[in-house]
Amino acid sequence: MHSIVIVPFGDVPKTLLDFLREELGFRFGTEVRLSAAEPIPEGAFDRNRNQYRSSLFLRRLEEERQDEDLQETERRIGIVNVDLYNPESDQVLGEADPIDRVAVVSLARLHPALEGMPEEDPLFRFRLLKEAVHELGHLYQLNHCDNPKCVMSFSNALDDLDRKSADFCMAHQSKLKREAEAKSKRR
Ligand SMILES: [Zn+2]
Repeated sequence: MHSIVIVPFGDVPKTLLDFLREELGFRFGTEVRLSAAEPIPEGAFDRNRNQYRSSLFLRRLEEERQDEDLQETERRIGIVNVDLYNPESDQVLGEADPIDRVAVVSLARLHPALEGMPEEDPLFRFRLLKEAVHELGHLYQLNHCDNPKCVMSFSNALDDLDRKSADFCMAHQSKLKREAEAKSKRR
């Protein structure tokens, strides 16, 4: 059986994590576990940019996987409340590593004010959900979609994120189902 683990790094409001757990469970049709909060990985902070390297969060999520046999079936997604960058982009909303099946999503740019944690704001929550579903989709080997409403359509700015839905198009919905079943049958 495939499963999803949500790993908060640093201070992430519990209400947001509970919201994500429920919504992701529903959308991916699987059990979603909430792990204890992890500290921000050492060395992730880049003083010159005042931002954090996304790769260190991904590596940490991979290292923390309890059982290597789970790599096939367990997807791990980190939620961070700091601003991320990587060599390709200086504004990373989320990043996925489909091989190791780990992903990270940042809350930092999902709210225009960039300050505080408006966790009850429906727009903010919905953006977080879309970004999390999108990155997890990559961990189920889903590629970007041409359908602008599909949650797998590419977005690197809030405008794109707001334009799409939190749902998969028909094609991606069925590919997701196949991918989830294929992996669980193997065990
Ligand atoms: Zn699609």
